[in-house]
Amino acid sequence: MAKTIGVTVSEHIQAGLVVDHTLVGSLHVFPTDVDEQDALVELPTDALVSTVCDQILGAAAGSTDIQAVGVALPGLIRAGVVEEAPNLPQLKGARIQELISNELRSRGLHAPVTILNDADGCAAGLASLHGKLDSIIRVWTLGIGIGYGRYPFAEGVWEGGHTTVSLDDKERFCGCGGRGHMEGIMGHRAMRLRFLDMEPEEVFEAARINPATGQCADQRCLEFKRLWHKALAAGTASAIHIGGAGKFFLTGFNVRFVDLPMLKDYLQQMVKMSPLQSYSVEVVKDDAKTRVIGAAVSAEQAAGL
Ligand SMILES: [Zn+2]
Repeated sequence: MAKTIGVTVSEHIQAGLVVDHTLVGSLHVFPTDVDEQDALVELPTDALVSTVCDQILGAAAGSTDIQAVGVALPGLIRAGVVEEAPNLPQLKGARIQELISNELRSRGLHAPVTILNDADGCAAGLASLHGKLDSIIRVWTLGIGIGYGRYPFAEGVWEGGHTTVSLDDKERFCGCGGRGHMEGIMGHRAMRLRFLDMEPEEVFEAARINPATGQCADQRCLEFKRLWHKALAAGTASAIHIGGAGKFFLTGFNVRFVDLPMLKDYLQQMVKMSPLQSYSVEVVKDDAKTRVIGAAVSAEQAAGL
C-alpha cells in the first residue's frame, strides 16, 4: 500500500495524502482565499519552499510512514532544477528538489521528493483516473499559460504550449517572449494582453453567434475565437505528427471556452494521413484532486514503489 503526498503549485498550493492512488481526506490549500491569484508570485523562493512544506506536512497529518512526495510545478523541470518558469519567475534556476527535501528532512519527514512539470502531473492523474496507466495519453492544460503533459513520463523537454502555430509577425504575446506560440494566442495572460479592453470571458461571450439571425455582433471576437481554436488544433496536429495519434485530454480553467465541434473541424483539416486519424479529444473538468493524485502517482513511480 503506497502512502504518498501529492502537491501542485500554480496560483495556489494544493497538497493531499494519497493512498493507493486515492485521495484520503481533504486538500490542504494555500492561500485559503481562492480568489487570491498573486500570493505565490510575490513570495521569494525560500518562503515559497517553506510554504509548500507547510502544506505537505499538513497533508501528512503526523504520519511518519510517507513513502514519497511529488511536487508538480509550472515550468521546465530537469533533474530537480527549475530551468524555466515564466509564471513563477522567482523559481528560475532553483534547485527545488534539494530545497524541499532538505526542509522536509529538517522538519522530520524523510521521504524521497520528485519534482515534475504540472501538466505531466495532470496527465498522470488523468491516466490513473481513467484506468489508462498502461497507455500513452497527452493533455493540454488551458490556464494562465498553456501546459502540455504526457504520461508515462519520458525524458525530454515537452514544452508543447510553445509550439509555433502562427507565422504572423504580430503574434508576440507569449509569456516566454517567443513569436507565434500557441500560448501567445491561447494563454489567459496573453488574451488579456491582446484585448486590453475586454476580459477573455467577454471576448468569448461576444463571439457567440445569435441563433435567430445566424450573425455575430462582434466580428473581431469571432475571428479571435476561430484563431484560438486553430491554435489548439495546430498544436494538437503537430503533436500527432510527431508522436502519433491517441488520446488527448483538454483541461484547465479555460476549457470552458472550448467549442469541440469547431476544434474537431480544424483538426480534420490539419491531420490527413489515415494512420494518424485514430486520435480522440476529450474535455475534462479542471480538478485539483486529479492533479494532486497525478503528482503522487508520479512520485510513487519515480521512487519505484
Ligand atoms: Zn512561448
